[in-house]
Amino acid sequence: MPEGGDGNKVDRMGGRPVQVVVSKNDHSFELDEEALAEILLQDHVKDKTVVVVSVAGAFRKGKSFLLDFFLRYMITQGRQDWMGNEEEPLQGFSWRGGSERDTTGILIWSEVFVTDLPNGEQVAVILMDTQGAFDSESTVRDCATVFALSTMLSSVQIYNLLHNIQEDDLQHLQLFTEYGRLALEDAGHTPFQKLQFLVRDWSFPYEADYGDKGGEIILNRRLQISNKQHPELQSLRKHIRSCFSGISCFLMPHPGLKVATNPEFDGKLSDIETDFKKQLQKLVPMMLAPENLVVKEIGGQRVKAKELLQYFKSYLEIYKGDELPEPKSMLVATAEANNLAAVAAARETYTMLMEGICGGAKPYLSTAHLEAEHGRIKDKALTQFINKRKMGGESFSESYKQKLDKELEDLYGQFKMHNESKNIFKAARTPAVFFATAVI
Ligand code: GDP
Ligand code: MG
Repeated sequence: MPEGGDGNKVDRMGGRPVQVVVSKNDHSFELDEEALAEILLQDHVKDKTVVVVSVAGAFRKGKSFLLDFFLRYMITQGRQDWMGNEEEPLQGFSWRGGSERDTTGILIWSEVFVTDLPNGEQVAVILMDTQGAFDSESTVRDCATVFALSTMLSSVQIYNLLHNIQEDDLQHLQLFTEYGRLALEDAGHTPFQKLQFLVRDWSFPYEADYGDKGGEIILNRRLQISNKQHPELQSLRKHIRSCFSGISCFLMPHPGLKVATNPEFDGKLSDIETDFKKQLQKLVPMMLAPENLVVKEIGGQRVKAKELLQYFKSYLEIYKGDELPEPKSMLVATAEANNLAAVAAARETYTMLMEGICGGAKPYLSTAHLEAEHGRIKDKALTQFINKRKMGGESFSESYKQKLDKELEDLYGQFKMHNESKNIFKAARTPAVFFATAVI
């Protein structure tokens, strides 16, 4: 960002786009776990519930461009003048693609925005950009994968479309309604949160107005069921609303020829059509104002930043093969991540309580005393695991409970050793010293 004393400027851009999921040459996907962990496991972030706002859809349709306005809003904390200075170039996620393409995959902004909800709770807002190009047969699957992953991992999926919502745009959602039905059966909770259709370059404002009202008209029209539709698409229409806690649509006007065609355009507001800016003023707070933030839930549980890392890992596993995964394997992966998160939480409880009993600065405890404390605290941790709502059913959870049990015993071994090291009687090992110390 250029420096300047102008108060209107977005004068702070402390982050950068980080590619966390990368498509390889052989079309497999790889997670940059280290890069992702660096973002999600920051001390001020890891224990906060996340809001993950993703923008997905075909290549070169203004997704990154839009996200850079989201960034402006988050950086200025939604100040009245969040849109910035008329002449300021637009920066953040790279958008002026040019001829060479960025790698297919998922990027997230390195700065996580900690925001207060109206109820006072602090949440961690993560902005997610997706990339893919439908330019050859082999990449179609890559794009479908990126779309699927970002839908599974976000709490708000903005489905960015050009001109209109078409039949095959809906087809892309079929996998989720199928998965959604399984997840719904398993956990009884709406599997996904918000699906936001965003139609760019809407050119029929006389038919349906720009913004969310017009969007609702178009969306309802598209989701209407008719006998002429393929049975699978009829079924999709029937079930889609039960898979997302909210579905809406927003119609954006064309941003003007400078934005669409001028190679010199650098994103400054003065080159963008007023109508577009007017709708942007409405759309962005609709997604990002504290009262409109939607937290990520999986299986009815709010997801914390450190848990999101586990979901990334588990979901990427199922996209290793050549085929798009079956809804069933998506459910298994979700249940796995879910159980692993419950194991991690129980382990954390155990460690924290044991630290309080026999951690670094605590005095030596007799073996029997420590054993009793371990028993009590381990019970507590196991109960916490059992009581936490998980997906996949009880027998699925059983193996994770055993894993937890083993991990707690291992941890106990370490606590025990540490405790023993504080035992000056044993450390000294000579009866004379033992006697002398005991007398004192
Ligand atoms: P992405 O590949 O979807 O992330 O697209 P980009 O954000 O990189 O934008 C691609 C091009 O589309 C850029 O040259 C932008 O100036 C332009 N652009 C941005 N928003 C819009 C829009 O709403 N309509 C049109 N027609 N072009 C846009
Ligand atoms: Mg982009």
